[in-house]
Amino acid sequence: MADDTREIFIILTKLKRYCNSNMRKNLGKIVVLSFVAMMFAATNAMAQSKPWAKLDNGVLTFTYGSKPSAPASVKCTNCGKMLSNADKFCSNCGTKKPKQAVQVFAVPLNSQKEEDLPWDDVRENINKVVIASSFKQVTNLLSTSYWFALMKITHIDGLQNLRTDNVRNMGSMFWNCRTLTSLNLSSFNTRNVSDMSGMFCGCEALTSLNLSSFNTSKVTNMNTMFCSCKKLTSLNLSSFNTSKVTDMDCMFSFCTELTSLNLSSFNTSKVTYMRDMFMYCDVLTSITVSAMGWQTSQAIKSSFLDHCPAQIIKK
Ligand SMILES: [Zn+2]
Repeated sequence: MADDTREIFIILTKLKRYCNSNMRKNLGKIVVLSFVAMMFAATNAMAQSKPWAKLDNGVLTFTYGSKPSAPASVKCTNCGKMLSNADKFCSNCGTKKPKQAVQVFAVPLNSQKEEDLPWDDVRENINKVVIASSFKQVTNLLSTSYWFALMKITHIDGLQNLRTDNVRNMGSMFWNCRTLTSLNLSSFNTRNVSDMSGMFCGCEALTSLNLSSFNTSKVTNMNTMFCSCKKLTSLNLSSFNTSKVTDMDCMFSFCTELTSLNLSSFNTSKVTYMRDMFMYCDVLTSITVSAMGWQTSQAIKSSFLDHCPAQIIKK
């Protein structure tokens, strides 16, 4: 804000000189210049707003605005000396510096790899995710790949505040959420997503998954999308358009409690890979497909129905 104040002061000084030199004749111009100064200040204030994620006692909270506060130093657990961010060990007693209880991360808009995310090192410390309503202002997200690949989370609150309108990559977004039991993504706009590979892979405790709003018309990759969703007994994919999908390798493999699947919305004419697609779906007995949409002669299908008793029913 100090910079803003200085800028406004300079502009106002110029305005004052201008007023004096023109003997306050030209009021209209002054009003316009004042307005410009105000807009400049407002734009500067907006430029300082950013998406942040703050980890505090196991809760990762996403916000949009000025940088959330966090203590710059942490106490040595042994002797009490204050240690800075740069310290790895206590200079007084040699004890390893404890992990910061509170950490603040700048949220990247287009991360492509797991390790690109600043919270990658602390995934194991996160047991809950909250997306605050201010995060709705983040409309330019291009990737949420690996965002919630958090093996210890039990809840994600505020998913309706995540604007996914421009997201291209949701690959492994909920990868390995082993303790998450339900997920309602009915607020997600997925019209621009091309990669959903591994999106729910390893969600072993998930019993409820709402994908009713999913628009998958641009998706090309569904590799391992539901792999190892071991507690799902049913899955409604009636909104799925798969006409651009080329990779369905392992898409449902190890869904060991799925009893039936209705894939009658699926068009598989572009699919090249169907390897292990239903492998180890131990109790899956029926897969309903459409006679028109279900084409597999062009696909590589090794181990397609290995350890799976299902009949494919064409309707
Ligand atoms: Zn110490």
